[in-house]
Amino acid sequence: MADVHSKETRSYNMSRIKGKNTKPELLVRKFLHKNGFRYRLHVKDMHGKPDIVLPKYKTVIFIHGCFWHGHEGCRYYVVPKTRTEWWLNKINTNINNDLQYGKALELRGWKVLVVWECDLKGVDKAGFLTSIIAALKNNEEKPI
Ligand SMILES: [Zn+2]
Repeated sequence: MADVHSKETRSYNMSRIKGKNTKPELLVRKFLHKNGFRYRLHVKDMHGKPDIVLPKYKTVIFIHGCFWHGHEGCRYYVVPKTRTEWWLNKINTNINNDLQYGKALELRGWKVLVVWECDLKGVDKAGFLTSIIAALKNNEEKPI
């Protein structure tokens, strides 16, 4: 079956899916900033280049697109009926990488928070964002 997308279109779509500064990411960043949290973005020398890094809280946040990162049981994770094997291969690689990065970061003393795209589309978006703050405060390094 012929692929409806040209190579250019496909790589454009993929860069959007995998891209930085996605809508869910901006949403979380804005919310954290408004609430007084300061962070670094896409830190290259850390495993998996976490989307948001909060050194004061020793926490990194990954914001995952449900499709691209294979969010199990999620309605946004539907494997395409064409090129199924190709997609599964890509997605499984991402899932494995995510696991490895998470482990490596935790070994270095980082707390890893994963935010799924669908968490930010749910009815209780505000409640979810508030729960991120609660988790961060919990991780804050207390002076000895
Ligand atoms: Zn999801």
